[in-house]
Amino acid sequence: MAKNLGLENRSIPTRILFESLSTLDQLIKGIIPEKEIPALRIGVEKVSSALKRKLEKAREGLPIIGYHFAIPGEYLSCFDCVPICLEGTGYYLATTLLNGVEKYYDIMGNWGHPFHTCTAQKGPMGMSLDGLFQFDAILAPTAPCDNTCASYPFFKYQKNFPLIIADMPFRKNENSYKYFAEQIKNSLIQVGNVIGQEPDFEKMKKHIEIENQVQQIRLEIFELIKAIPSPISNIYNAISAGTFILISGTPENLSFYKEMLEITKYRYEKKQHHGGEEKIRSIWPYMVTYFDMSLCEWLDRELGMSVLFDIFNYNFSKPINTNSDLDTMFYDMAKKTMEWPMVKQSTDFYYSTLEECIRMAKDFSADCFIFTQSIGCKQFGSFPQLLREALKDELGIPMLLIEFDVGDKRFTSLKVIKDKIKMFAQTLM
Ligand code: SF4
Repeated sequence: MAKNLGLENRSIPTRILFESLSTLDQLIKGIIPEKEIPALRIGVEKVSSALKRKLEKAREGLPIIGYHFAIPGEYLSCFDCVPICLEGTGYYLATTLLNGVEKYYDIMGNWGHPFHTCTAQKGPMGMSLDGLFQFDAILAPTAPCDNTCASYPFFKYQKNFPLIIADMPFRKNENSYKYFAEQIKNSLIQVGNVIGQEPDFEKMKKHIEIENQVQQIRLEIFELIKAIPSPISNIYNAISAGTFILISGTPENLSFYKEMLEITKYRYEKKQHHGGEEKIRSIWPYMVTYFDMSLCEWLDRELGMSVLFDIFNYNFSKPINTNSDLDTMFYDMAKKTMEWPMVKQSTDFYYSTLEECIRMAKDFSADCFIFTQSIGCKQFGSFPQLLREALKDELGIPMLLIEFDVGDKRFTSLKVIKDKIKMFAQTLM
């Protein structure tokens, strides 16, 4: 038993996340009326269930493989392993732990890591420095940002975790996709060499097929959001981002989206809004707050402001072809990864993202944009002003810019964020 617990403790943050989500699950079931906040209720249950299985596998002694969020987690299903998304775990702990994970940002700050870096990486780095993670290998791409490229070597040089990097090209053309397809395949082979396993690409196909179905359902939900009022709740965006990153390729992820589609269709047909009345339709081209997701409910219920989608919920790619040869499958995997949220926006000039935002504003009848600018996210730094001007010139709709940190509540508190949005909303009504 002690031995098994020891094995599970190679990923203590996953155990803490599982325990906090299980407690939350019990609270939701015991306190919140059954039909209320279904995205939260269903999402917490599904993520807990998938994490439980990961912990069981950890107890069996399977290798713990960390992956950067820009690598779709289902790719690691070619191994008997425990795949752990570093950024997803850190941010979900920021939301589920009462005191957040600022302690780990400070641990990294005291170690000498610059304070103005992205907390997506800084959280799991601090947890590793504190001995909470023991990875057998880590897989990351050279995208989407400098923070990623400059932070991941820490795991190799400070923690001695084997680090495998998939080199992602900047340009998006056939040669790039072919090159990156090779990079993904070779990276998986290298991970296999480190953990002493041959990648089983036939097994991986099944999990990719699950995600192909997930993608189709997410697209159906996305289409329904064009309706007025929006049939999703704001918190769906935050929960969907979590399942998408933390438990991709699992049956739980598929069943989360299947249930959400049914609920979304029902609300669409009944013209129901989660908060009662939709007064403002907003697009958040970057992220919602992870240090406190209650903002989503407050916007829905207090302001009648719908968050139509955030960055994790408007990026889609073609399904991966699993019926042809392996080269075709890896080619499609490369395309999917290069279209991934943040990767797509960060590894391109901004024109395409500006055009996409204008198009989405029209298609989804948006009244405004809210851009949450994270201090760590340098490559998005120049974008908000360009977007604000484009939205004003092309459509005459306003954009509110809020400088904050997604995971660290000390930069801009929830109260300040709410006050800014409240004042902005008054100018819209
Ligand atoms: S938020 Fe910005 S800095 Fe952080 S991982 Fe995403 S692209 Fe990189």
